[in-house]
Amino acid sequence: MTPERFDSWLTVDRKGLFCRPGGFHIDPLAGAKRAIVTHGHSDHARPGHQHVLATRETLAVMKARLGAQAPASSQTVRYGERVKIGDVAVTLVPAGHVLGSAQVVIEWKGVRAVVSGDYKRSADPTCAGFELTPCDLFITEATFALPVFQHGDAGEETAKLLKSHRQFPDRAHVVGAYGLGKCQRLIALLREAGYDRPIYLHGALAECCALYESFGVRLGDLKPATGAAREELKGQIVLAPPSAIADRWSRRLPDPLTAFASGWMRVRARARQQNVELPLVISDHADWRELTETISETGAEEVWVTHGREEALLHHIATTGRKGRALALIGREDEDQ
Ligand SMILES: [Zn+2]
Ligand SMILES: [Zn+2]
Repeated sequence: MTPERFDSWLTVDRKGLFCRPGGFHIDPLAGAKRAIVTHGHSDHARPGHQHVLATRETLAVMKARLGAQAPASSQTVRYGERVKIGDVAVTLVPAGHVLGSAQVVIEWKGVRAVVSGDYKRSADPTCAGFELTPCDLFITEATFALPVFQHGDAGEETAKLLKSHRQFPDRAHVVGAYGLGKCQRLIALLREAGYDRPIYLHGALAECCALYESFGVRLGDLKPATGAAREELKGQIVLAPPSAIADRWSRRLPDPLTAFASGWMRVRARARQQNVELPLVISDHADWRELTETISETGAEEVWVTHGREEALLHHIATTGRKGRALALIGREDEDQ
């Protein structure tokens, strides 16, 4: 029997990736009848779907963030639980990206495809670690798919923040961190490093922290920064969304020292442009080595690349003798780089 070509049953339409025999989209860009959502970031978990299958955590994020636009009906699946949708078997497997994030394993006619969603391989105390699933087709993200991106050790980056905090005990250290995932990971990293003082939060970060805590992720003593007296914030660590670190909001903090936790901080010019004094290379996406190693470990004969910088990775894939394909999905501007 000749196996069906992957693109005969996994197609791309204007809503994104579609599994024909299962009748569902994965992370559709616009309201879909039936969707599987890999995780709660806004570029993956869009409003207006009729039915969503996802992990309990992802559905909770969607409910909190989308309100009335949250899916009308939903199905919760646990990691590793295999469900049938038509002729297709679907299993969600941890992606190690943020709380509840999943890779989607799709099996049809003896062929296995894995849609990675966003993922990372390095440890993260706030979510389940990435699990490798051998497959025939691997669809990978490519946010940091250039050899220059090497994220290094998140614990060492956290130590840099604490060192600066000791060196400048009167300055408020305001750290830009994306609200879903990075913020909680950074807090957990600070706690692991023994930092037990209160951590102050910009109002926009509070809800996601509360959601993580409701799923048993302990973040320690968190206090609102907005409304706190200037004197109280002296020498404190304050987390804020990246958009807030350069604006008026952070200038009212006492002698603010600006830091930013992001994979992009590997690019010094970017840190300078954004007036970041203390760049912290902490990423929730795979770096170049993680991407290339993961691709070969899956054993996939064919790899589709989406969500970022396709060219360099496609070149690499060709050198390993695999078939590669750029999967152009418009409207992918990552929330959490
Ligand atoms: Zn993401
Ligand atoms: Zn993404």
